[in-house]
Formats: sequence, structure tokens, C-alpha cells
Amino acid sequence: MIKEFFNYRRPVVSFEIFPPKTEDRMEIVSRLASQFKELNPSFISVTYGAGGTTRDTTIEVATYLSRLGFEVMAHLTGVGHTAGEIDDILSRLKAGGVDDILALRGDPPKGVENFDYAAGDFKFAVDLVRHIRRRGGFGVAAAAYPEGHIASPRIKLDWMHLKEKVDAGVDFLITQLYFDNRVFYNFLDSVRRLGIACPISAGILPVLSADALKRMVTLCGAAIPAKLWDIIDKYADDHESLEKAGIEYATAQVHDLVEYGVDGVHLYTLNRAEWVAAVLKDTGLDRYEHLPEAWEWQQVQYGELPPGGRNPAVWQVVERRDL
Ligand SMILES: Cc1cc2nc3c(=O)[nH]c(=O)nc-3n(C[C@H](O)[C@H](O)[C@H](O)COP(=O)(O)OP(=O)(O)OC[C@H]3O[C@@H](n4cnc5c(N)ncnc54)[C@H](O)[C@@H]3O)c2cc1C
Repeated sequence: MIKEFFNYRRPVVSFEIFPPKTEDRMEIVSRLASQFKELNPSFISVTYGAGGTTRDTTIEVATYLSRLGFEVMAHLTGVGHTAGEIDDILSRLKAGGVDDILALRGDPPKGVENFDYAAGDFKFAVDLVRHIRRRGGFGVAAAAYPEGHIASPRIKLDWMHLKEKVDAGVDFLITQLYFDNRVFYNFLDSVRRLGIACPISAGILPVLSADALKRMVTLCGAAIPAKLWDIIDKYADDHESLEKAGIEYATAQVHDLVEYGVDGVHLYTLNRAEWVAAVLKDTGLDRYEHLPEAWEWQQVQYGELPPGGRNPAVWQVVERRDL
């Protein structure tokens, strides 16, 4: 199960991809997989279309990556599904070698107004977490919102619901994208005080286009710091320079997170490997094996330290084992 990685490697580095919509999707995924192999992520997560719109392709892509030897987590949303349908999807994922699920409530399919969340078997993500736990056999992760979920009337209320979700049996959390690490650190302090002790991976998305950013921010409500607005304004007519500056901004965020000693970094890849490679290289995260034994061995043999210095969590493990 993926949760084990957090016992050995900080940060756990994960990549998120979405199943391409085109007929040649498996060729695209195959190309991405060979690029990602070089980058050695701890795991790859595969998104799930709102209301089950990518049910088959999520299973197909997750199974394919798992058979290639990647550790894979499939996203799964409860909205619009019956418990029987969820069980069927879980069985198919299990048969495909997928042992971890990101359990989500999900959003209504596009264009559906006044969607009734209570009509299905899963009103909130916590209901799906409980269902998967009752069934057994899977590691379970869930989503967290450093700025509060966009539909939540109060940020603290959202984090109390987050605590209920974690208490229902979540192994680790992955955050929604955000652009100011201070927001993430404040969120960490607050939820740790609420008693949420599980590992939390920071979700990072680079700004590769102004329009895409605006769309994304409208959907999820992430605040854009002045520094990022300056970049967007400065390169409004220069797509290439905007991309470069967006990747540099994401790199600086990741660098700072590594120095802080974050549990995990989850990169929203947008199905593109080149920016991911650039960020990992510039932050030194490309240099470590994800296999715990190999990593510890390498550190002990060569006295190498993780980027950002000696991470007490990792070295406790090394010392406890008396290597
Ligand atoms: C890392 C990540 C990956 C994602 N991947 C996908 C994906 O693959 N496919 C997709 O469709 N969407 C995805 N999403 C988006 C997600 O589905 C939406 O943000 C959705 O609106 C909320 O899902 P959730 O699991 O956080 O819901 P929940 O945890 O259920 O929270 C939803 C809202 O309900 C509130 N709430 C929770 N419990 C209660 C309660 N007991 N009583 C009252 N209110 C409550 C919360 O405060 C929040 O406002 C992802 C989000 C993240 C952060």
C-alpha cells in the first residue's frame, strides 16, 4: 500500500494524470509512462471523470500503469454511483493490480444544475471512505483544501469535515492546488491542532497558460498571489516565457516545501512530462530511488542527505533499524 512510502521517504513524490479522451489514448499514456519511468515517482494517480464519465478509461489506464510496474492510485468519486457500481469498479481495479483509492465526493457532471447529492448512496466523500474500509483490501487517501473547499461556508467547518473523513480511515491526504506555501503551512498547523495526524501531500500545479489558470481558479477558488499576477501580466502576449516563468514559480514552491520537510509533493502533471522533469531536476528530487531499502542503503553507504538537509523522520527509521 502507498501509505508505507511515507514511513521511508520524505517527500513522497507523486504524479497525477488524467485519461486522455482521444482514441489514441493508450499510445499517449504509453509515451508518458516511458518519460515518467525516468523520473521515478513514488506513485502515479489517475483521475476519474465527474459522475463516472471516465469509469472505463480510468480503470484501463490505472491497470496499464500498474502492469508496467508503477505503484498506482485510482481516483474514485461517489456522486451518482450506487454501492453496487462502486463495488464493481473496486473489483475491476483490484484485478488490475491497483490497491489504493483516492476517495472523493466528486462534482456533478457538466451542465447538470441543482444536482441532488443526497439521492445516491454516497453524499460525501466520507461515505465512500467508510464503504471502501468496510469492504477492505485497499489503501484509502482523500482530498484536502488548504483554502477551504469552495462550497464550504466556513474554512474551519470544512477542516472539521476533513477530520471526520480522516477518522473514517484515511491513510494520507492530498491537497488541492494552491499558489502560496504560507497558506499550506497555516493549513498544516491548523489541521494538526484539530488532531489530523496522517501524512499530507502538497498539490502543485504550474501556471502554463493564463486562460487555463483562470478556468482552474474559478473552479476551485485558489487565491493568486500578487507575484503570480505580475508574471501573468508581464507575459500576457508571450506564451513561451509565461510557461518558463510558471515552471520556475512551481519549482520555487517545491524547493521551499522540501526545505520545510513536507510529507509529500503531488504534481498535477497535466499529462506533460517536461515541466515535471525540470522541477524534479532543479529541486534535486530526481536523485533518489523510491524504493525505501535502496534509498536508505544509498544514504548510509555514501552519507548522502536528502535535499534540504537531514530529515529526522527518515533518519529515525535508519537508526532504529541499526543499519
Ligand atoms: C487531489 C484532488 C484530486 C481530485 N480528483 C478528482 C477526480 O479525479 N475527479 C473528480 O471528479 N473530482 C476530483 N477532485 C475534485 C473533488 O471531487 C471536488 O473538489 C468535490 O467538490 C469535493 O470532493 P471531496 O472528496 O473533497 O468531498 P467532501 O470531502 O465530501 O467535501 C465536499 C464538501 O462537503 C462538505 N462536507 C463534507 N462532509 C460533510 C458533512 N458531513 N456535512 C456537511 N458538509 C460536509 C465539505 O466541507 C465540502 O465543502 C479532486 C480534488 C482534489 C483536491
